[in-house]
Formats: sequence, C-alpha cells, structure tokens
Amino acid sequence: MSEVNTKDIVKKYGFKFTKSLGQNFLVDASILNEIIDGANITEEDTIIEIGPGVGTLTEKLLKISKKVYAIELDNSLLPILEEELKGFNNFTLIHKDALKVDFNEIIGDEKSVKVVANLPYYVTTPIISKLLVEGYKFKSLTIMIQKEVGERIAAEPNCKEYGALSLLVQYYCNTKIIKKVPPSSFIPEPKVESIVIRLDKLEKPRVDIIDEKLFFSVIRASFNMRRKTIFNALKTLNLSKENLEKVFQNCGIDSKRRGETLSIEEFANLSDEVYKFLQK
Ligand code: SAM
Repeated sequence: MSEVNTKDIVKKYGFKFTKSLGQNFLVDASILNEIIDGANITEEDTIIEIGPGVGTLTEKLLKISKKVYAIELDNSLLPILEEELKGFNNFTLIHKDALKVDFNEIIGDEKSVKVVANLPYYVTTPIISKLLVEGYKFKSLTIMIQKEVGERIAAEPNCKEYGALSLLVQYYCNTKIIKKVPPSSFIPEPKVESIVIRLDKLEKPRVDIIDEKLFFSVIRASFNMRRKTIFNALKTLNLSKENLEKVFQNCGIDSKRRGETLSIEEFANLSDEVYKFLQK
C-alpha cells in the first residue's frame, strides 16, 4: 500500500480523532485514486465534498476540478484545512452539519455538480436520503460507505440485501460499485469493511407513480414484515380485505409473494392501485 500524507498531517497538528464523528481517515493512495477515477471528474465539474477530514481527498479533487466546496462539522479540522489547502483559490470550506445544509445554496447556477465523499458512517443513510429526496441538481454521488450498506443500495430483487434502501436509491439513480476497501486503508481502522459506490442521478425517476409518499409507504410496509406475504404485510394500509384483494387482482401480482420478490415497476403498479382504492 502506498500511503498518502494523512498520518504526517495528523501528527503535525496533534489532531485527536473523535469516534462519534465517524473519523476514519484514508491513508491508502491507491484508494484515493480509485475514488477519483470512479467519480469521472472533469475540469468543468464543481465538487461538493462532505467531511474532508485533513483534506487528502480534497487536495486531489482541487487539482482536477473547477471548484471544491467542502462541508466539515468538526471545529478542530478547520485551521488544518485552511492551512494545508491555502494554495488553492478554488476551495471553499463550509463549517456546517451536512444534514442541515441547503445544497441549493451551494449549487446555485453551477451546471455540473458531483458529490464525492468518504462519508461518516453514522449518518450515511440520512445523508444519501437527503441528497436524493430533496431533489438537488447534481449529476452523481461517489461515496465511500460501509460495505453492507453499499450492497443493500445496489441489490436486485430476490436477494436478502434487497429492501427499502435499494428501492429508494434506484428510484432516483443507477448504481455502480467501484471498489471494496479493507479496514487497513484507514486510520484508525474501522471495524467494518467499506465500499466505494457511484450513484448516477437519472433524468427523471425510474418509474412514474401517482403518489410518491404512498409508493414509499407501500415499500416500507412490505419490508417491515419481510417474512410475511405481501398481502399480509399490506394489511397495515387503510384498506378493507376485499379492496386489498382487488388491488392485487387489478395489478396482476400474486398476493402470496413476498415483498423482496417485487421489482420497482411492480411496486409502482401496486402503489398506484392502492391509491385508487384509498380514494374510493
Ligand atoms: N475525507 C476524509 C478522508 O477520506 O480521509 C475524512 C473522512 S471521515 C470518514 C468523515 C469526515 O466527516 C470527518 O472529517 C468528520 O469530522 C466529518 N463529519 C462527521 N459528521 C459530519 C456531518 N454531520 N457533517 C459534515 N461533516 C461531518
């Protein structure tokens, strides 16, 4: 493993890691390069990085893109980042909790925005959900996350990883797993394996549906009770048994199947039928 200078910077400033902020910094240069290559960055791209740490990934991003906005929550990293990256005039540091940022204020009129991040694992799912559901205009999201979460995001029907998170992300994006990353690529070493994944935002959501909120409620209900048939799982919706039977007849889905066997198109048909019966 060829190492980047993360350890030297940590030592130089006497930086103390905060475990609760998910601070596992990358030390493996080849992984940094794989993230950069996997993100398909050009000099036209504006990058938003969430959690720059001591700025090792940030520095690489600054060299190949138009601008980098880095959002960091930890006070003690700010002077380090300002000092280490002072030579770049295309760098903006934002001291905020990424979960509370209005990304439209950063994106503004930028034409080509890509998010690149080694995410803090304790907030991975809320950050991904926020970025997708709030409808920001970015092209892609290339992120290092816990391996197990990455596998759930990219999962297809009929496998145990497939669930509400797979459907949420695949509703908005194509997914591409770039690389599995072992704990030894970080300091301190996390307890879990990691994965780099790219989410390419679709021009419009993958399926047309009448009511998005209902679509995700149907999905959540189907996976809350994974071992039950889809018919039993959807009894929690406000429909009579007779109407629920008609829903399944109308969309031609066998009500004895389990939620994990349904494709996103089938969930779309199902939720549109549920919608019609909820209106009656
Ligand atoms: N990018 C660096 C690297 O690859 O070595 C550091 C990645 S480390 C896994 C996660 C970073 O996110 C840390 O710098 C941490 O302080 C920061 N962070 C944690 N929670 C955050 C939040 N809610 N908003 C913004 N940054 C956060």
